[in-house]
Amino acid sequence: MRSQISRRAFIKGSIAAAGTVVAGTGIAKAADALVNGKKEPLATLLDIQKCIGCEECVRACRDVNAAKYPEPEKPFPKMYPKTVPVQDWSDKREVMDRLTPYNWLYIQHAFVSLNGRETELTIPRRCMHCANPPCVKLCPWGAAKQEKNGLSRIDADLCLGGSKCKAVCPWSIPERQTGVGLYLELMPALAGNGVMYKCDRCYNRLEKGETPACIEACPENVQTIGPRREILEQAHTLAKEINGYVYGEHENGGTHTIYVSPVPFDQLNAAIEKGKGKPHLDRVENMMADGTNLSRAMLIAPLAGLAAAFGKFYLKSKEK
Ligand code: SF4
Ligand code: SF4
Ligand code: SF4
Repeated sequence: MRSQISRRAFIKGSIAAAGTVVAGTGIAKAADALVNGKKEPLATLLDIQKCIGCEECVRACRDVNAAKYPEPEKPFPKMYPKTVPVQDWSDKREVMDRLTPYNWLYIQHAFVSLNGRETELTIPRRCMHCANPPCVKLCPWGAAKQEKNGLSRIDADLCLGGSKCKAVCPWSIPERQTGVGLYLELMPALAGNGVMYKCDRCYNRLEKGETPACIEACPENVQTIGPRREILEQAHTLAKEINGYVYGEHENGGTHTIYVSPVPFDQLNAAIEKGKGKPHLDRVENMMADGTNLSRAMLIAPLAGLAAAFGKFYLKSKEK
């Protein structure tokens, strides 16, 4: 039978070990970096051993982002070719155990052996916010964008739901909702099929110097946000103190989401449930270092810029 060590007792040790990681300081520095226009990207450290799986972060994410969630029009237009799948989560909004257009963050569970005891670790999962995001570089419509602070988001007003971002994302993060967005007005039968959704790192809260909702709601200070260089230093200090492991520093050429785990990530990856809406924790090569993707990105960039400009013009003209 599986035994679980007391998460609190386990966490206590972790907090002591993580003395150098101060969430408040990180947030203050992050806000300072934004306000003063420093070019340093923001990153988040997630200390996995502190997480108790309470899902407060998930609920906070759903609350603050509720107004951004899709309200699809039904019945959906018929698509050509008919093989284009309808993806409708609007009647399953309560689903919290995977990523969906209505759930941008969820908690993964892993039963692993730690110090000779079987232990449950819980891992908050969302977009990794890659430093060089393929979803942004290869979106043909310019709908996926990277903010000045290095974090990425999908503009729901411009996205046509073609799903390229998901196809090129090493973790298949974005999720599509049919029956919503610009495709309904432009080419309802022929283009896209809705809008893609994922964590936008609470960009509108960050712009105001506020903390992302999932960080603010966490009772255990699992996440720390700050300039990437400092976050990496903190991650390595913590990893050294707990004999732990770092994920996200080099994956896909580096991400702005850095996990520290007390067990190796291949062990965690083997233990988590993976599949649709449930991303892996495997090692990932730098996708944008691939020659084909690089040349695609160079070809797409000007066209994506034009497409985005057209989309914005079209939306503005409708407002008049
Ligand atoms: S709120 Fe904090 S402790 Fe609770 S599940 Fe989320 S990250 Fe883990
Ligand atoms: S994890 Fe996927 S969706 Fe997130 S920034 Fe990277 S490529 Fe884009
Ligand atoms: S940063 Fe904001 S959008 Fe992203 S998971 Fe946290 S609460 Fe959700």
